[in-house]
Amino acid sequence: YRKTIIAGNWKMNKTPSEAKALIEEMKPLLSKTKWCEMVLCVPFTDIQAAVKAAKGSKIAIGAENMHFEKSGAFTGEISADMLKELGVKYVIVGHSERRQYFNETDENCNKKVKAAIENGLRPILCVGESLAEREQDVTMEVIRKQVKIALQGVAAEDIKKVVIAYEPIWAIGTGKTATSEQAGEVCAKIRDCLRELYGARAARAITIQYGGSMNAKNAAELLAQPDVDGGLIGGASLKSADFAAIVEAAN
Ligand code: 13P
Repeated sequence: YRKTIIAGNWKMNKTPSEAKALIEEMKPLLSKTKWCEMVLCVPFTDIQAAVKAAKGSKIAIGAENMHFEKSGAFTGEISADMLKELGVKYVIVGHSERRQYFNETDENCNKKVKAAIENGLRPILCVGESLAEREQDVTMEVIRKQVKIALQGVAAEDIKKVVIAYEPIWAIGTGKTATSEQAGEVCAKIRDCLRELYGARAARAITIQYGGSMNAKNAAELLAQPDVDGGLIGGASLKSADFAAIVEAAN
């Protein structure tokens, strides 16, 4: 069966020394975790410090982005190999902020998802609708397209390595969480889409997270939805007590 995964997305926050301090603060709070997986996706410059600080804990370290090429003339970019060697296990692909500010496309995400898998990293593929799209009632059309294109050519035996994060754009950093019904409904429909693409067995095995203003207060209700298998947490992952409370709610 699928695993519950609580992942933090630090975005552009924390220097290496701050990362070390925060993880050391989190470690004792997270030591009682039984079966929920914990991931912290951190800025590239924090990865080394984060991996070192997380040693001996159950916290896995992830990156927030990567390039899909192996190497070459791509000034400013980071490859899967580079991440892998540092001990990175997960990588966020297609976060809405990258789609909005850095021209990330579904086609791009597809290349990144495949490159991540080829290199032994688990992609956390982010999908989600804007407020206008929700109001126009095209939420599922938008998300189905994002999922289908991003997963094109991903082999059946690899699909379980992919984590999907449903992040409604209107809920990100706004304090406006989706209701648990809204989150549960979309996550269930994403699983329907995965079932069409990969069959019922595979669809059941894939972790689907919710993200968007998830916090210590609302986590339990969101995670109680049968198709919500974890969270991708922004703001609240920068505070040890809040992140620990969300992990607690998932246990
Ligand atoms: P917030 O939890 O700050 O709303 O951010 C969510 C997010 O974008 C996680 O990737």
